[in-house]
Amino acid sequence: MVHTFRAMPELPEIEHARRVAHDALDGRRITRVQAFHATTRRALTPTTRRRLEGQRVLAVTRRAKYQLLELENAYVLEVHFRMTGDWAVGSAADPVDALERARFTLDNGARLSLLDGRAFASLRLHAPGRVRLPPLGPEPLDAAFTPVVLAEQLRGRRGPIKPVLLDQRVVAGLGNIYAAEACWVARIDPRTAAHSLGAVRVARLTAGIKHVLEHAPVGRYYQRPATVGERVVALGEGNSDDDWRVYDREGQPCLRCARPIVRTVQSGRSTYWCRGCQR
Ligand SMILES: [Zn+2]
Repeated sequence: MVHTFRAMPELPEIEHARRVAHDALDGRRITRVQAFHATTRRALTPTTRRRLEGQRVLAVTRRAKYQLLELENAYVLEVHFRMTGDWAVGSAADPVDALERARFTLDNGARLSLLDGRAFASLRLHAPGRVRLPPLGPEPLDAAFTPVVLAEQLRGRRGPIKPVLLDQRVVAGLGNIYAAEACWVARIDPRTAAHSLGAVRVARLTAGIKHVLEHAPVGRYYQRPATVGERVVALGEGNSDDDWRVYDREGQPCLRCARPIVRTVQSGRSTYWCRGCQR
């Protein structure tokens, strides 16, 4: 059985992956780091590997879609899945998989592997106290992300709201699917100028963003099934496409008003929405 990936991992998948990586690595010592592809060999140089090997992992944290492996020597390994990255957890004795780009062997005989069909995932080691990420807006799932905060972020943004939500400086980690889903939940026309949204609609949008991220079923994104004794992270419960409210539902009836869902292209990305109930 071979699955094809159909969307890049979004924030809920990344948060799920972070938790799995944290559980696998928390308090464990990395005994060996291996790279199996040109891209990961470039990132995991002998010097970088030496800084990782022998180190205990204190925590795996996340900022937007960046997973951060925090080591006891205060170095931080940043991992970004990009298009097709994923973790697999298994035994250090497992053979190397065709999609495996890097492997972290642990002191308990387990491994954490980076699977990545297209090999766009990035790994970067930050020196102690020198974690440098691109400018990122507030985390949408934080309690501190309130309508007041979102209104502040939208101030002066004259572009249509849906592409504006994809700007990582406005909200960190919101992707194409969830931006459209959030607009539908909030009953907002995705073409509306961002700065023109009043307090009521901004409040609905804030709630909509949190709702779609919190209720996102993980598991629609995967590239291969797990082998015996292995756990591939994003291979979840096998949710069907029906779980989307508007995404990829062009021509199908709106779940709220039954008008057909339309597809518009905004800033080069597809936006699915309802002309009937999104204003
Ligand atoms: Zn509708």
